[in-house]
Amino acid sequence: MAHRNGVHLIDNQYSNRALKTAVIGGGAAGCFCAVQLKRNRPEAEVCVFESGPSTMHKLSLTGGGRCNFTNSFERVSSLEEVYPRGFRQMKRLLAAFDHRDTGKWFSLLGIGSVVESDSRVFPSCMDARKVVRSIQKEMSRLGVSVECGHRVESISPAPQGGWTVDSEHFDNVVVTTGGGLLKALGSLEIATVKPVPSLFTLKLDCAAIKELMGVIAPDATVSIQGTAFKSRGALLITDWGISGPATLRLSSYAARFLAEKNYICNLAINWVSSNQQEIQDRCRKLKSSCPRKMLSTTCLQGLPDRLWKFILKERCGLRDDLRWAEIGDKGINRLSSILTSDSYPVCGRAAFKEEFVTAGGISLDAVDIRSLECKKYPGLYFAGEVLDIDAVTGGFNLQAAWSTAYCVAAAISD
Ligand SMILES: Cc1cc2nc3c(=O)[nH]c(=O)nc-3n(C[C@H](O)[C@H](O)[C@H](O)COP(=O)(O)OP(=O)(O)OC[C@H]3O[C@@H](n4cnc5c(N)ncnc54)[C@H](O)[C@@H]3O)c2cc1C
Repeated sequence: MAHRNGVHLIDNQYSNRALKTAVIGGGAAGCFCAVQLKRNRPEAEVCVFESGPSTMHKLSLTGGGRCNFTNSFERVSSLEEVYPRGFRQMKRLLAAFDHRDTGKWFSLLGIGSVVESDSRVFPSCMDARKVVRSIQKEMSRLGVSVECGHRVESISPAPQGGWTVDSEHFDNVVVTTGGGLLKALGSLEIATVKPVPSLFTLKLDCAAIKELMGVIAPDATVSIQGTAFKSRGALLITDWGISGPATLRLSSYAARFLAEKNYICNLAINWVSSNQQEIQDRCRKLKSSCPRKMLSTTCLQGLPDRLWKFILKERCGLRDDLRWAEIGDKGINRLSSILTSDSYPVCGRAAFKEEFVTAGGISLDAVDIRSLECKKYPGLYFAGEVLDIDAVTGGFNLQAAWSTAYCVAAAISD
C-alpha cells in the first residue's frame, strides 16, 4: 500500500510508472512503437506527432509498393554483411524481436507473409498501403492519439521531471523522425554521427559503357580500388552508370567513404566473379578444343552477348572476327585481366528510385542498447532510421525499424 498526503493509495502494477508518451514521427518505427506500447500497457497515454499530412507515407512506397517488410535471414552468414552500421547492436535487438516475430506481429493484424526465392519477405497481400491501413486501424482501436501536420519544434527536459514537447508535458519521448537529424534535439548535445546517403547508384565517367544500358551481368563483383569495399551480385548497366544489387550493396558498405571522397573514386569490376588464372585456363582450353570458332560467338561465363562483344572490342581491342586459334598469350592475358579486373572512374552518385536510406544519426554510444534510452537523458528514447543503424536492401531496414521500436516499447512498459 502506498501513502501520499495522508491518503492510502491502492498499489497496482502500474502505479509507480507514469506513461504519458510522445512519439515524434509517425513513420514505420513510430507507429509500430505506439501500437506495441498500447498493447503492453493499455492505460498508457500515447500521442504520435507526424509532420506530414498522414502517417507512414514512406512505408506505403516500400518494396515498390509491395512492402518488403523483413527478410528470412536464410542467406545471411554474418549480420555485418547486411547491417554495415549497427551490426553488433542489431544482434542484441534481433534477439528481442526478429523476423519471425515480425511475421507473427503482422499476422495478428491479419497480414500473412510470403518469402520470395531471394529471402525477401512481403505481406501476402503484396500491398504496402494495406499494411499502412492495418497499422492505422490498430492505432485507432487501441486509442493512440495521432496528430498529423504537427512538426515538433522543441523537446526539452521539464523542470518538474519528464519532458516538454512543444509546450505539452510528457513522461517519455520517443524520437522516430527517420533520416536527417531533428533540429529540436540540437540544444541537448546528444552525440551524433553525420548523416550521409546510402543505397544509391554510381555514375561512371565512361561514355562507351552507356551503350550497354539495360544489360545485366548476372554475377559480378564490384570493388573500390585501394579499399576493402567489395560486393558481389547482379550488376545492371544504366544510362549513366551502374545499378543493381551489387552496386547498391557497395554503396551501402562504402557510404561514408564515398561521401568523404565526394563520390569520386576508381571502381574495379570483375565481370564474372572468377580469378584471372581460371579465365586463362578456360581460354587456353577453348583455343585447343575449338580453334576455328570466333571469340565473339563463344561467350564466357554466361555473360550477355552485348556485354561480351563490348569487352572483346572496346575493352580488349580484339577484332570481331578473331578465332580462338589466332589469340596469343598477350590476347589471353588482356582478356582475362579485363574480365576479372576492369576499371572505371566513378564521378558521382544518383538516388536509387526504389530505396534510399540515411547512414548516420544518433550515435549508438549515446544510447543504452537494450532499451535505446538516451544515456544522458532518461525518458528520451530513439527508434528506427534516426539511429546510426542502416542496412543493405532486402527488408533489413524495416526489420531494424520494427526491432528498435519493439525494444523501446518494452523498455517504457517495464
Ligand atoms: C522509396 C523507398 C522504398 C523503401 N523500401 C524498403 C523496403 O522495401 N524494405 C525495407 O526494409 N526498407 C525500405 N526502405 C527503407 C525504409 O522505408 C526505412 O528504413 C523506414 O521507413 C524507416 O522508418 P522510420 O520510421 O525510422 O522513418 P520514416 O519512415 O522516415 O518516418 C519518419 C517520420 O517522421 C516524420 N517527422 C520527421 N521530423 C518530424 C518532426 N519534427 N515532427 C513530426 N514528425 C516528423 C516524417 O514525416 C516521417 O513520417 C525504403 C525507403 C524508400 C525511400
